[in-house]
Amino acid sequence: MKNPFHVIVKPVGDVCNLNCTYCFYKEKSDEGARMSDETLVNLTKKYIQEQPKGCKEVQFVWQGGEPMLAGLEFYQRALQLQDKYRRPDMKITNAIQTNGTLITNQWADFLHHHQFLVGLSVDGTKVIHDSERLYYSGQGSFDKVLKGYKKLQERGIQTNILCVVHPNNVECGTEIYQFLTHKMQVKRLQFLPVVGDETIDPTAWGKFLSNVFELWLKKGLGQVSVQLFDTAYARIVNGVETFCVHAHDCGNQLVVERNGSVYSCDHYVEPSQYLGCVDQNSFAEMLTSPAQLSFKRMSALHDEVCSGCDVKGLCQSGCPKHRDNDHKNKLCSGYYSFYKHSIPYFYAIAECQRRGIALTHYDKFITQIKTSIIQQAG
Ligand code: SF4
Ligand code: SF4
Repeated sequence: MKNPFHVIVKPVGDVCNLNCTYCFYKEKSDEGARMSDETLVNLTKKYIQEQPKGCKEVQFVWQGGEPMLAGLEFYQRALQLQDKYRRPDMKITNAIQTNGTLITNQWADFLHHHQFLVGLSVDGTKVIHDSERLYYSGQGSFDKVLKGYKKLQERGIQTNILCVVHPNNVECGTEIYQFLTHKMQVKRLQFLPVVGDETIDPTAWGKFLSNVFELWLKKGLGQVSVQLFDTAYARIVNGVETFCVHAHDCGNQLVVERNGSVYSCDHYVEPSQYLGCVDQNSFAEMLTSPAQLSFKRMSALHDEVCSGCDVKGLCQSGCPKHRDNDHKNKLCSGYYSFYKHSIPYFYAIAECQRRGIALTHYDKFITQIKTSIIQQAG
């Protein structure tokens, strides 16, 4: 392959011990076994060996359903295979996205020992979290998740909190950010608007982001990483796209299902986006298949739909899964108001960095930058 590529692996498919109200991944596959050893071998070998010459790092991202249901021995075997197929100059890293309810001391020791990056799903305070993230019995999962989180914290495991923003917490941005950063002492955060039939109100989404941004500016800048803000900043300062939702097109992160089937994206595990199987096909074949090429073209349609938008360079139309029948993003007005509000601040922070002064002195430049943006627009 010419370029590095990335995969998310679902070793137990959609099987999960929780029954979150908004989960879009339920009932995609039959309940039952985890990924076979043969598929794990094929996946590991091809994912590593097909990376381009000179590729220095390969990351395995494990996701579900609940990927810890695959059991510790599954991951021990995965690490053994990674070591077997790794090129001498290649670093292999692992990340796992979990609901956190199954983290025991044994799991935490394992994750710590092998330097896993852990993505943990927490939707806010106990009341907010337990309104949607439930066991099949109807009981909330917050207490269990917090216990798991403490085990990660005690060991200093790098943890990224994933907060799904849905109709019942979209008005609570300030409360959620304060809770996560103060009470839970979280340093890495990600807010993802819910995907599925029920989406959030775009105006409320814009307010959510702007409220969190204001708090972050005052107390989190340089201390707390918020994925969407880091993405905008990286784009402004270095011109790089670090997050698919605000990248020009999709298709750089495939999904490998439990049975080895490969799809274009976690949000598109559906027949039209079936690309092949790791047991039969190479990644090179799958990444250049007609289905994958049409996925990339579809995702870049915003060039037409969003033309003329003055925040398009950062927004890039968001995730195609949020588009309506006219290909317009349903969250458009929210993204627009957030980016219009935040862009001058990102430039001011970048100016601090350029001058080698503390980022928190951004207010020295904000008036000047706002004026120059108005003049350029005029
Ligand atoms: S469809 Fe959405 S989640 Fe998938 S790659 Fe595109 S932006 Fe990312
Ligand atoms: S703000 Fe709206 S019009 Fe502008 S790029 Fe984003 S989705 Fe498109």
